[in-house]
Amino acid sequence: MLTALFGGTFDPIHYGHLHPAIALAEEVKLTQISLLPNHIPPHKPQPEATTSQRLAMLNLAIQDRPNLSIDTREMNALQLSRPSYTIETLQAWRQENGYQNGLAFIMGQDSLLSLPSWHNWQKLLDYAHLLICRRPGCAKKTDNPELQTWIDEHRTFNSQDLHSSPNGFIYFAHTPLEDISATEIRKRIMHQKSCSNLLPIKVLKYIQDEKLYGAGG
Ligand code: ATP
Repeated sequence: MLTALFGGTFDPIHYGHLHPAIALAEEVKLTQISLLPNHIPPHKPQPEATTSQRLAMLNLAIQDRPNLSIDTREMNALQLSRPSYTIETLQAWRQENGYQNGLAFIMGQDSLLSLPSWHNWQKLLDYAHLLICRRPGCAKKTDNPELQTWIDEHRTFNSQDLHSSPNGFIYFAHTPLEDISATEIRKRIMHQKSCSNLLPIKVLKYIQDEKLYGAGG
């Protein structure tokens, strides 16, 4: 069994998360993808929505999508006052679930390029595979030689490898390109511009009801 975690801030969740995740599940034969909202993102500005608002939006977004679920372990972390590092989350998952079953961590191409700033990034593959979704506007290659060598050493072109080994591979998926970011959505909401094709309508309604991101201002 291959468990897949898709980490993010989800402030808010949008179709740039959902469409690639659903296509990836099909491409790689994943039965479940768990969305893994972080509590305090280590690498970017802090979320505008509260933890419980981001969680509420995730719950609305996964309704009617049986192969998506939510893993709240980072939000529930004991050390709520410090960032949740992905490496620690993967280590904790292994401690709970052992080393036999497969674990994959999903990220967009932009996150892959930022990996050298992640805590203990080279150890991630000791615990999980990395599944990379394409993202418009992102460089295809990194100019960091250390990262490029690491990618070349661990890359597989065969998604079957992800099922025959519990961790250790990097796989670049052929997921759809969605030119959507949470930053752009927050700006559009602030300026009362339409977002109806960028995120689920239930999430958009929640944002309006909660007056998030300057909605209704
Ligand atoms: P922000 O604009 O606030 O930085 P974001 O839209 O990048 O947010 P995050 O929640 O930070 O969203 O992203 C979580 C994960 O989803 C990251 O690995 C990111 O690379 C990936 N991701 C986000 N948007 C897309 C997209 N449009 N296509 C592919 N991957 C994406």
